[in-house]
Formats: sequence, structure tokens, C-alpha cells
Amino acid sequence: MAVFDSSPLQSSYRQIGEQFYTDQLPTPVGKPALIRVNPALAEQLNLSLSELQSPEALQVFAGNSVPPTSTPIATVYAAHQFGGWNPQLGDGRAILLGEVIGKDQQRYDIQLKGAGQTPYSRRGDGRSALGPVLREYIVSEAMAALGVPTTRALAAVTTGDRVVRESYLPGAILTRVASSHIRIGTFQFFSAQGDVDSVKTLADYVIERHYKAAVEASDEDSYSALLTCVMQAQARLIARWMAIGFIHGVMNTDNMLVCGETVDYGPCAFMDAYNPNKVFSSIDSHGRYAYAKQAEIGHWNISWLAQALLPLMDASQEVAIKKAEKILNAFSPVFTQTYQQLLAEKMGFASAGAEVNQLSVDLLQLMAAEATDFTLTFRGLSDYLAPEAERYFLNKLVSLPETFQAWVARWQAELARQNVAPQTAHQLMLKTNPSYIPRNHIIAAAIEQATGEEDFSLFHQMVDVLAKPFEYSEENASFAIAPKPEEEVLHTFCGT
Ligand code: AMP
Ligand code: MG
Repeated sequence: MAVFDSSPLQSSYRQIGEQFYTDQLPTPVGKPALIRVNPALAEQLNLSLSELQSPEALQVFAGNSVPPTSTPIATVYAAHQFGGWNPQLGDGRAILLGEVIGKDQQRYDIQLKGAGQTPYSRRGDGRSALGPVLREYIVSEAMAALGVPTTRALAAVTTGDRVVRESYLPGAILTRVASSHIRIGTFQFFSAQGDVDSVKTLADYVIERHYKAAVEASDEDSYSALLTCVMQAQARLIARWMAIGFIHGVMNTDNMLVCGETVDYGPCAFMDAYNPNKVFSSIDSHGRYAYAKQAEIGHWNISWLAQALLPLMDASQEVAIKKAEKILNAFSPVFTQTYQQLLAEKMGFASAGAEVNQLSVDLLQLMAAEATDFTLTFRGLSDYLAPEAERYFLNKLVSLPETFQAWVARWQAELARQNVAPQTAHQLMLKTNPSYIPRNHIIAAAIEQATGEEDFSLFHQMVDVLAKPFEYSEENASFAIAPKPEEEVLHTFCGT
């Protein structure tokens, strides 16, 4: 049984021009073994689960064989990395097998991450260690279940080969799915060379693939409309990250997809204790990508897409710049509006407003002052509105210091003033405040078990629990509890 038989791979990106990629086969590995396939995602992608679970599929996920309909490529891009310009990057360890059309009639990339060297590998080995593959699988699938636009994990395999990092580590490959892997940095690569024709080809492709209806409905010229779409997608995405305490950690322009999905789960992390200045990434020494800086950086990144699109937006540079400025100026309002709305819902209000916004500002200030757990504080507050028998969090998994009492009274008074029934507010809070997030210390433990003892049980358990992050059952309490001080993970590392 061949994989992708019932759903042949397409290669629309390859067809837009050979300047966008290099043909590149995956490099075979020694002794592949399946870690996990994702049945729910397979179904969404119209892929046959029995094909994906076949021995032939394992060889494909490992890069040892290529489906007959695939013409694998590595794509080229550039980037600002930590603010510094890098004119030539590309898929250094990722190979795009092709695209499939999902149940929703949308096109999805199927990519192998860790499948060997490409012309863009620079000094890298083109491989992934097992740890980062498990981390990306856990966190990206959790993000999807939390309702955040994200790349997905279709499968993970071990390679049977060792990769050399600080020590020898087992190698692994992730089969990653994205609405597309086109980055802001892809536009920058051509823009920096003054290749406006290629920028136009790419922009037209992105409009057709991601934003056709919105661009057609817009009063703006197509490329201003495209910039508006990507700006809005990024601003809303970052608001969603912040509403669940997520820190991306490496918001370089090559890690920002124009489709608006979260990509590159390298040094990312969810905060435990709330601290707006929180940084996890060991290489982010200046806190460039700190939690509360993410919107500002998103805006900066989008300005580079604007720069690339300028020549297409108007023949007059002056007019084009005016148009771009107007769009970029809308980033902050779109972000703020989305963020305030999400926070309002986390407190049980259907919509934001001056009083509700003040409540969220004051709550976050209290949380910062008392360093309470971000996730458990919000979920704990919902207990005030829950029937006695359903109060699982407050004074069990989280206790809110005395200083919260005045705030709680104000919050409840505002709910009453707005005539929000406690039950209604409670239901909304249960849908907007997860019980479970991918906690760093548990990810670390799952990786350690898998790497050290070849025991994947904690990894599987974590993926299963995080598939339903808003539900709660006491038997899975260990996945909800905040780390003890000695368990806390202080730094995360890039997945290289
Ligand atoms: P990242 O920081 O993960 O976004 O990666 C930045 C660039 O380095 C991308 O172009 C990657 O393809 C490349 N890269 C990362 N790790 C490796 C590796 N092990 N081998 C080759 N290229 C890599
Ligand atoms: Mg990257």
C-alpha cells in the first residue's frame, strides 16, 4: 500500500518558478521506527489512516522513500534574525514533499523536518534530535486544540541514527503540516535583490492560496489588501498567544508565516508564573522576544513585508509608502482589540469595554506582583462561579493571595452590573481558560524519558491530555499543576 495513493501530492509551489526552491531528495536513515501518527489530522487532510500507519508510510516519514506523486523541494528564504539581516537562508533541514487538499478544500504543505542536508544547510547537519521533535509535536498539537492557528504534526519517527549536539542524541523526523510555509523572509529574499517580478509572482500565489476572497472584496489594490490581510492575521495571532501565556521565543522574520499560523517551536514556552518580561530562550539575551514585546516585534516584522510589497502597491513610491504606513498603523489597534476581547472572555464577559479592560489590567498587575500561575489563576477564578462540587482549582491547585479579594469583589460586581448570569459567565470561562497547557517541566520529563529510556508513555499521555485542554478530570491533575520552584524550567533552547 503506497502512501498518498488515495490523496496524490501536488506541487503548486514548485510550479511558480525555479528561483523559489531547489529539488532535493531526503537523505535515507538507518533504522526508522514510528513514534506516533495523528489520526484526527489525517482525517482533516482526507488522508487514509491505514495508509499512514503502513510500513511503507514509515519509510516515507523517515525520508527513505518518496511517494510516486512527490517531487521534493527545499525552499529558499532570507530573514532578519534577532534584528540582523541574513540575505540567504532556506530549508536547511526541511524538505517539502508536496501539498494535499484537505476536507475544507484548502491546500496544505506536507513537509519532513530533519530529513537531511539541503543546499541551505550552511554548516548544519540537516537533522533533528528527538527532543525538539517531541516538543514540537506536543506544543503544536496543543496550540491547535487551544484554538490557535498553527502548523500541525502529522507524524513523528525516530531515525535509528545518532545526531551530534552537545552530546550524541537519537535522531528523529517530524512530518509537519502547514497551510503553507511561505514566510515574511521568503518575500525579503527576492525584495533584497530588487527582483520585483519574483515578489509579484509570490504575492499573487499567496493571494490565490490564502486570501483570495478578502482581496477580491477589498477596496484597496491587491497588494495593499494582501498586506492588510497578513497584518491582521499576525496581530490576531499574537493576541491569541498572549491570552494563553505563550512565548514564541524566536520571532525572526523567517519564522513568521504569511498564512498567519504559528511556526517554529524551538525555544517557545508557556509561562508558569505571570511575568510580562518573561524570556525563556537561552540565546535571547536582550529579551528582544519577551512575552510582552511580541506585538511590537510582530509590527516590526510586518514592516519588512510592507517594504517588499511597496513596488507593487503603487507606481509612485511616495503613494505606496503612504498606503503602507496606513496599514502598518492599524496593527496596534487590531492587536489591542483582539487581546482585550480575549481577556474579557477569560473573565466571563461577552465583550470588552472600558470597565472590563480596567479589570483585566488590574488583574494582570496583581498576578505580576504576586507571581501567580497564569493558567491556574484564570481557571481558578472561574471556580467563584462554579457549583460547589465543580470547584477543582481554587485552594486545590492554586491559591490567590489576600490582595486579590478586592479585585474579585469588583469583578463580580461588574458581572452583576452587566446582568451576566454567573452560569453564563462560568460557561464562557470554561471555554476560554484551559486547564492544561504544555508545561515546560512535563515536556522536559517526557523528552528525558524518551531519550534516555526509549519510553514514550509520558509523551503519548501528554499529547492525549492536551487534545482536550479545556476539560478537566482529577485523574489528570498532574498535567495541570504548576511546577514547584525546583521543577521550574528556566531556559529553553533552539531546536537545532
Ligand atoms: P531556526 O532558528 O530554527 O528558525 O533556523 C534558522 C535556519 O537554520 C533555517 O534556515 C534552518 O533551516 C536552519 N537550520 C536549523 N537547524 C539546522 C540543522 N540542524 N541543519 C541545517 N540547517 C539548520
Ligand atoms: Mg525557523
